[in-house]
Amino acid sequence: MRRKLVVGNWKMHGNLARNKALLGAVLAGVKELRAADYGVCVPYPYLAQAQSMLQGSNIAWGAQNLSQHEQGAFTGAVAPGMLADFGCRYVIIGHSERRALFHESNDIAAAKFDAAIKFGMTPIFCVGETLQEREDGVTEQVVARQLEVVLNHAGAQSVAKTVIAYEPVWAIGTGKTATPEQAQAVHAFIRSRVAQLDGKVAGGLRILYGGSMKPGNAAELMAMPDIDGGLIGGASLVAEEFVAICRAAQQ
Ligand code: PEP
Repeated sequence: MRRKLVVGNWKMHGNLARNKALLGAVLAGVKELRAADYGVCVPYPYLAQAQSMLQGSNIAWGAQNLSQHEQGAFTGAVAPGMLADFGCRYVIIGHSERRALFHESNDIAAAKFDAAIKFGMTPIFCVGETLQEREDGVTEQVVARQLEVVLNHAGAQSVAKTVIAYEPVWAIGTGKTATPEQAQAVHAFIRSRVAQLDGKVAGGLRILYGGSMKPGNAAELMAMPDIDGGLIGGASLVAEEFVAICRAAQQ
């Protein structure tokens, strides 16, 4: 039985005062919830704040990106060891905003995946198709290609330590959610691809859905057999909404 996992992706939002209030309310709202796992991925400058507020709680923290390099002349980049220094458990890799706005290729995402694993963090590896790709009927090919780069070279043991997030690009931040059946179909496809590598790893792999998950649709999405939780953007910035989704993961 896979435990559900709900992770907030704050993107480039927040400030010290707002984060304090948000984390305080989320901590209070989820402290009794023991049947699922929770996390928040915050902007780099707030990792220390997240660490000091969340340490010892049932909410883990992490980052939204990392460099594939361990150190060196990479102005503006943040090394995996630096994230590990701040106790990050999770790091989001290959988010569609990184792919589209920062031109991150499948190969770069795969190198970042390796770096996260090497430094003991759990990559939340994002895959998903654009609206055009869905309309063209190539969703599975696109997702397979994004996955393959990691699966082919990382090997089963690395995949066992990861979380996959299926995030249809057309559903991110748009208020349009994949139906539970649409999402389930892609999640089952992802699990079947991993099963070709290792059936046991596939059975234990947590596959999150991301794309306008809200309190009103979280329970029905997470009731699907291959949906093991959510990666939450907008709703993770509103304490009551994030807590409601965390509660839905308990059922
Ligand atoms: C995301 O950015 O990972 C995401 C799922 O965003 P939203 O929930 O706002 O669609």
